[in-house]
Amino acid sequence: MADALGRDVQVAIIGAGFGGIGAAVRLRQAGIDDIVILERADEVGGVWRDNTYPGCACDVQSHLYSLSFAPNPDWSRSYSRQPEIWAYLRQVVADFGLAPLIRFGHEVQAAAWDGAALRWRITTSRGPVSAAVLVVGSGGLSEPAIPQLPGAERFAGRAFHSARWDHSFDLAGRAVAVIGTGASAIQLIPAIQPQVARLMVYQRTPPWVMPRHERPYTLAERRLLARFPALRLLARGWIYGLRELLVLGLRHPPLMALVQRAALQHLAASVPDPALRARLTPDYTIGCKRILLSSDYYPAIQRPNVELITAPIAEVRAGSIVTADGVERAADALIYGTGFQVTSQPIVGRIRGCDGRTLAEHWGGSPVAHLGTTVVGFPNLFLLQGPGTGLGHSSVLVMIEAQIAHLVSALELMRREGLAALEPRPAAQAAYVAELDRHMAGTVWMNGGCRSWYLDDTGRNSTLWPGFTWQFRRRVWRINPAEYLLTAATSPVVAA
Ligand code: NAP
Repeated sequence: MADALGRDVQVAIIGAGFGGIGAAVRLRQAGIDDIVILERADEVGGVWRDNTYPGCACDVQSHLYSLSFAPNPDWSRSYSRQPEIWAYLRQVVADFGLAPLIRFGHEVQAAAWDGAALRWRITTSRGPVSAAVLVVGSGGLSEPAIPQLPGAERFAGRAFHSARWDHSFDLAGRAVAVIGTGASAIQLIPAIQPQVARLMVYQRTPPWVMPRHERPYTLAERRLLARFPALRLLARGWIYGLRELLVLGLRHPPLMALVQRAALQHLAASVPDPALRARLTPDYTIGCKRILLSSDYYPAIQRPNVELITAPIAEVRAGSIVTADGVERAADALIYGTGFQVTSQPIVGRIRGCDGRTLAEHWGGSPVAHLGTTVVGFPNLFLLQGPGTGLGHSSVLVMIEAQIAHLVSALELMRREGLAALEPRPAAQAAYVAELDRHMAGTVWMNGGCRSWYLDDTGRNSTLWPGFTWQFRRRVWRINPAEYLLTAATSPVVAA
């Protein structure tokens, strides 16, 4: 029987960001056309649609931070800004004719595996849909994390998260408090500093900051890249190779001393005042938290209208913030640059497997997946950017594309062998996760002396891949049927 969305489908994809869009393109190229993309917003783009804060840009160079099958010789600068990346993704949707697949305003509220029908029963905000295969492309950085500061509910000014920027609020001439000094905050602080009257930066942990060597591409360079695709590949390969070198240091923390020295030199050259410099100097090994790239953060922090505050926030009042040292500072706006719910994403509480329990219940706060992509007890479920696939050094799109290759390979296997369902064997998943944890043990993320959002509630690093990205790709891109439990179909599930 047809469902509220018109029909049952072979593949339902949650999210129209880089992951969902990339998966849809690759599936169609493999001849799998019966796809629906369920997108809760009314535009494609994922984080590049949601993050519109001033100064938002990518800290991976665009020729690497783009889909391998959709190269763009026309990037305007080495590190693109949010509007250009968002426009690129919309262009990919147009170029590959994906618009008819996307259902905007369809938030996935629940998805349950129907063991009798061997299908996913999905409840969206606009009605149900069923699918043989469910792909989760909702991203790891989609749900803002807003800390429960004492008294925050009493704040009478504007308060918003960096990923939900309130463009209706004019910051000009205002007293503005920014909480956090992570990747988002260090971009927005220099961008808003010239407009505001006072900027108070509440820092809990100083980040390591390296200079950001960026520049616009000349018209001649762009024409050359368009004319000679091999040059574009060379540029991509060069960026990729240089970034992979960092893995050596992330895996062997003593090697990070060189990088740390360069960051200290950047700090020393940028901040002459020793007292301020001391407050901006991290006390953990570089790389333990994400290394930030900025050439304008340290200059901004030293502008006369900016104050760096390192005393913990004790209380928020109607028009001010009070720190633990008793100082009260008036504020008209409170901007949370406090990151995302990475290891506790709401979507994992909405997906129920064979035993009726959710992914969140299975994981108990510490996510695991076979190859970061498939999960025991959750047949025909594919996670893009699942556990252990994040990166601290390169383009996450490289990882997503490897996972998409796995998905396509799995669906081709299902088609070839006439399978209705597949899920990883418990032993295969357990061995993979143990191997991942073993490699993780010696890394800077576990031994660098910091507490980062990469670690889950149990202290495990269930977020990152602890190796070279080519190692992940080699391990993942083609499915090994021996690692999976296969269920034969009585009628074809993935049609030819
Ligand atoms: P983030 O890196 O998690 O930083 C959050 C900041 O808020 C940290 O400084 C954190 O301090 C602080 N914070 C959190 N809770 C707090 C609390 N209760 N009280 C005081 N301070 C608190 O978040 P993000 O900057 O949004 O970046 C998240 C990720 O998004 C990045 O790692 C990156 O992967 C991605 N991103 C990338 C770019 C880029 O490409 N340039 C830009 C933005 C975001 P602690 O360090 O003490 O926890």
